[in-house]
Amino acid sequence: MITLALSKGRIFDDTLPLLRAAGIEVLDDPETSRKLILDTNQPDVRVVLVRATDVPTYVQYGGADLGVAGKDVLIEHGGEGLYQPLDLKIAACRMSVAVRADFDYQAAVKQGSRLRVATKFTTIARDHFADKGVHIDLIKLYGSMELAPLTGLADAIVDLVSTGNTLRANHLVEVEQIMDISSRLVVNQAALKLKREPLRRLIDAFASAIPT
Ligand code: AMP
Repeated sequence: MITLALSKGRIFDDTLPLLRAAGIEVLDDPETSRKLILDTNQPDVRVVLVRATDVPTYVQYGGADLGVAGKDVLIEHGGEGLYQPLDLKIAACRMSVAVRADFDYQAAVKQGSRLRVATKFTTIARDHFADKGVHIDLIKLYGSMELAPLTGLADAIVDLVSTGNTLRANHLVEVEQIMDISSRLVVNQAALKLKREPLRRLIDAFASAIPT
């Protein structure tokens, strides 16, 4: 049995065409079914639905043989025990710094004052500001980061940006792009040895179906 860990939403939707290219059809729709283990047309392949941030953990400890996770999630997890053979180029976006439109970010950074930064992505934020030599107080949040500068909780946020609509709707401006983000295939290293043939076939099929 091959177990693939996916998160609902963007990653699940964008992985379906890659699975199809490998001859795999998922038989349930996660938007209408409450099942967490989804069968496929291949009796020896199943999909498990987990939270996006849990995908690397499932694959690391062998709860799944492989999975699809964003670069952001992989950096925050650390990537221990994971083989990362492919950038699937799906669920693309960027990690950015954003502030209130009336906040002078360049001046704040130049003055060497401490910046209060709210984010879910603490490793990425800490590394980014350390590289710039900017001292920060990091405030860990789990969602609705846009609220932090609006309520005075923080000066800046580090968050994923795709169209920029969420920032605009909340009167925030993107002042720095930290890195491009897309989703990667991650594979359990022990499974790669024990189930070499079927996993290789799947990885090769994914590789030839990556959008250009
Ligand atoms: P947008 O309004 O299109 O810029 O999207 C920004 C919102 O969607 C933010 O709340 C992000 O956390 C989320 N988002 C955008 N792209 C992604 C992605 N590829 N993966 C996960 N979350 C995303």
